[in-house]
Amino acid sequence: IEPELVGDFATLMEWADAKRRMKVRTNAETPADCKMARQFGAEGIGLCRTEHMFFDAGRISSVRQMILAEDKKGRETALAKLLPEQRSDFKAIFTEMAGLPVTIRLLDPPLHEFLPQGDAEFEELAEITGYGIDHLRRRADELHEFNPMLGHRGCRLGITFPEIYEMQAQAIFEAAIEVAVESGEAPVPEIMIPLVATKRELEILKALVDKIAGEVFDAKGKTLEYLVGTMIELPRAALMAGEIAEEGAFFSFGTNDLTQTTLGVSRDDAARFLNPYVEQGIYPRDPFVSLDIEGVGQLVELGAERGRATRPDIKLGICGEHGGDPASIAFCEKVGLDYVSASPYRVPIARLAAAQAALKA
Ligand code: PEP
Ligand code: MG
Repeated sequence: IEPELVGDFATLMEWADAKRRMKVRTNAETPADCKMARQFGAEGIGLCRTEHMFFDAGRISSVRQMILAEDKKGRETALAKLLPEQRSDFKAIFTEMAGLPVTIRLLDPPLHEFLPQGDAEFEELAEITGYGIDHLRRRADELHEFNPMLGHRGCRLGITFPEIYEMQAQAIFEAAIEVAVESGEAPVPEIMIPLVATKRELEILKALVDKIAGEVFDAKGKTLEYLVGTMIELPRAALMAGEIAEEGAFFSFGTNDLTQTTLGVSRDDAARFLNPYVEQGIYPRDPFVSLDIEGVGQLVELGAERGRATRPDIKLGICGEHGGDPASIAFCEKVGLDYVSASPYRVPIARLAAAQAALKA
């Protein structure tokens, strides 16, 4: 059964839409999720997590090869295999979203998720790549981190391995041009850089995306509009949002990481002690579910204000889990965000909550 909104519920949603100010987008990275989210009323993609596209058995070995390669040539060989696959991933998404805004976030895994584990994976990779096991193990040891969530992630990976982001940008622009030519409706890709802490990081990576855009447009004899922006998911980024906005056309508040880094609580292990904390009222609610308005919320508000002071037309959204939580959505309305982005099944509740928040305002 394909889920969709029908009957009185669909009517209620239409009434809600007539009242709300904020747009509602979705977090999705497969055509099936995009389709479902559209049936639920999503007005674009606020977060396409591209790392989810790399875990297929057929692709993970190319990613591993890319990361553990001996040199640039080795990385390029691996990326040449990934490029057409990424192009078709993005083409399918642009096609499904038919002209609606699509924010694609460049790769943001903690590196350890891509490193081989155990003898069998090392042996398999040695066979595929032709690299010796010793080389692969030494390289994996060099890249090992004690705290990967605070390590070589997001834009840091893009700066260390620029070829990955170059490949992704190329795939995005080529896919968008193909869809524009075939459908007559040009997508406007919004390319998002993760885990930015400083303006310099965004400056380097925006230049990389612009360079690739120029190369693809020259090669295809066609140009496209596109935006480059950033996640605001580290306290420093929120504080320095005024400066960062000089480089970014949009901000999306990544409140999962922003909660983790502001409260100093691991998002992966939080449940072990958060439940008693919430039961005892030390936290009024689980801060990973409902925005910690006094703390994390202040950073969101400050980031929005400082970003707008530099760039009054900056597009502002939220794509952490809080984008589907009614109390957090009410806060986003107060801060004046342009959109919230929620997982597909939470799009209807987000539409309703955004309308209630607008009415209240
Ligand atoms: C976030 O940190 O809020 C976010 C949306 O990114 P991810 O959950 O993929 O880290
Ligand atoms: Mg994040």
